[in-house]
Amino acid sequence: MKIDTIEIYPYKKYDKPRLKKIDISNICHSSEILEFIQEQYVKLYKTDSPQELITETLKKIASILKCEDAFLAINEDENRFNYYSMVMSIGGMSMTSSSESSENNVVIPKHTFTISSDNLLSRPLAKKRGVISNDMSKDPRKSNKIPNVHPILKNYLGFPIFKDNTCLGLMGFANSEKGFSTKDYKNLITVSYFFRNFIELLNYGSEGISISQELKAKQQLVSLKDSFIASMSHEMRTPLNGMIGMARLLHDSQPLTVKQLEYIRVLMECGVQLVELVNDILDFSKITSGNLKLNNYPFNLESTINSAIDIVKQRAEDKGLELKVEIQKGIPEYLNGDSRRIKQIVINLLCNAIKFTDNTEDKKGKIILRVNYSNIIEDSFKRKIIITVEDNGIGIKKEDQTKIFSVFTKVGVNKNTSQGAGLGLAISRELSKLMDGDITLESELDVGSIFKLEIILEDESILNKQAENTDFLGKKIIIVDDSEDNRIYLLNIFIKWGLNVTIFSTAKECLNYLDNTKNDKFDLAILDIYMPGMNGIDLAQALRERGYSQPLIGLSSIGESIQGREWFDEFETKPISKSHLFNIMLKQLLNPSKVSIKGKTKKGKNIRIILAEDDYYNQILFKEMLESLGYFNLKIVNNGKECVDLISKEYFDLCFIDIKMPIMNGIEAVKIIKKMPRYPPVIAVSASVLETDKSLYYSSGMDGYIPKPIDKDKLEQILKSFS
Ligand code: ADP
Repeated sequence: MKIDTIEIYPYKKYDKPRLKKIDISNICHSSEILEFIQEQYVKLYKTDSPQELITETLKKIASILKCEDAFLAINEDENRFNYYSMVMSIGGMSMTSSSESSENNVVIPKHTFTISSDNLLSRPLAKKRGVISNDMSKDPRKSNKIPNVHPILKNYLGFPIFKDNTCLGLMGFANSEKGFSTKDYKNLITVSYFFRNFIELLNYGSEGISISQELKAKQQLVSLKDSFIASMSHEMRTPLNGMIGMARLLHDSQPLTVKQLEYIRVLMECGVQLVELVNDILDFSKITSGNLKLNNYPFNLESTINSAIDIVKQRAEDKGLELKVEIQKGIPEYLNGDSRRIKQIVINLLCNAIKFTDNTEDKKGKIILRVNYSNIIEDSFKRKIIITVEDNGIGIKKEDQTKIFSVFTKVGVNKNTSQGAGLGLAISRELSKLMDGDITLESELDVGSIFKLEIILEDESILNKQAENTDFLGKKIIIVDDSEDNRIYLLNIFIKWGLNVTIFSTAKECLNYLDNTKNDKFDLAILDIYMPGMNGIDLAQALRERGYSQPLIGLSSIGESIQGREWFDEFETKPISKSHLFNIMLKQLLNPSKVSIKGKTKKGKNIRIILAEDDYYNQILFKEMLESLGYFNLKIVNNGKECVDLISKEYFDLCFIDIKMPIMNGIEAVKIIKKMPRYPPVIAVSASVLETDKSLYYSSGMDGYIPKPIDKDKLEQILKSFS
């Protein structure tokens, strides 16, 4: 069914809602939305967490529309709707405490969403049209009987999702800065198509939504295709290189006629083009399947840039183009990163600039490569590197400017030429994203283009200088990791920092060494979590049981469950950046006595617990649960600020902290707590079950996580491991 009518209030000078017909063939003018939804389609065929994908999509679209709240309600069964995901802001819509009314929450009962035209939220379903209300408080469409409009909801845009005559769901956005417009509605059509396809590929059960068999099968096909492409392109390179090599030999085997030489030259050129294409396809398939891992080694940016210039300068010279390089003075001498991939991006941008620039009668073709940097306020070890490639060539039309970053896209006059496959920019942009950056473009037809690459890299020199100035020299570090690459990576860093390193590839080797040598003193150990045989958690426990109280750092490749964390002083997710590693080492090596004592001593049920929670009922509930488990030593505070204040004054063994609190939230508080000279392990208490949120908790310094509503068994498990 085509939803091509919207009901708007207020609309121009009218004080009654007006119907407006929209042309839905002319959809989505927002390249940001288009590009984003394209990415989401790729993820759709990989995800095993539909809930996460829905939330991520809503959050991003809400940020593009500059509104605070968003939701997707799915019609599960005969017009019974379930909200599966809501983006919430303080004071906005909330589904977290579905059946409770609290001051800031609009109460939308979880499973009883009925279609009613009096209810502004569900009106789009009842009327089968879009609904925009830019003044919810005065909107005449709402019923007086149904208090469905909370004063905090300023405005609302509801988009029904139908397939033929079947209603699949409802997508809603609320509390926009400027209010919603017809244009916003049109831009959302692409998003509604995405959700329509998505909803059809889900299963609904009592546990919630999950991936259907159909989607699973599709996902398997996609992953099979990815690995097929990856292995095929890999296999193709060997014979291709053989052919080029042979052609080269043939070229050198005189005597040959001029014609024969020309044939061989073309043969070699085609061969090289084919190898480049295969490399590009391999890169792209690796990126899309998430298998491309970047290196993180020190390199000199200036020489990387110069070697990129060396490769392309002949091409510029052949076309009589001017090629200039300007590198900002004082650029860090050594940065950490993947120099090969940075060079690949720069070469791609330069080759394009050369390809699409010519000398004309009235202007000389000119290409300027500029390299600049700036410091990043939040992180003194990191630098933003800005590389721009400017040309005065053919330029790119406005409407083509986002297209060129998509795969196999060529635009303008070169559309049909055989040069390039249109993969270069797509790969470059993906690579830049892997480096926490992006590539942007400013261009004008017939005037020229400026491609700007911005990436974030660590300044190796600053790190080493810091390490020199600290008292690391001679400290003994143990590394236990089954991956040789990881061992070497850490070893190289630590040696530079003047540390004395002993490495083991299994937990057993490490324990044998410590059990059999008298000289068993070490200052800190870094343990990989996933190892064959005895894993890192069991090793940490074994070390603690042998009486080692030195700092232990756990390194894992995915967000971990809480179990076993208590044996460690720090728990980190790989890949760990050097600057972060440095900060941890600094803290753990130089202030070991100050850190928390989790897992090192056992205190039983007498431990002192602090709970930071703003909701009174949740406070009572928590207290009762604790007491029923035999833990009576509890202090309760109402927000993060009070929690920080109390921990700075009093000793606690364990802290439970709610994430969403007024004045200071849990994330802000834990960051401060972890900088204190002494602090307890901190457990996040939150209703969000998203992996992304969980990893945010851990990266902010939380030692554990317990979901709301609190499960008594889980709580007991946590208490036991920390007491
Ligand atoms: P290709 O391998 O075809 O060069 P890219 O992804 O690198 O693929 O570029 C895609 C398209 O973007 C090019 O075919 C061209 O149409 C356009 N383009 C890229 N760089 C420039 C430039 N500097 N000036 C004009 N057009 C450009």
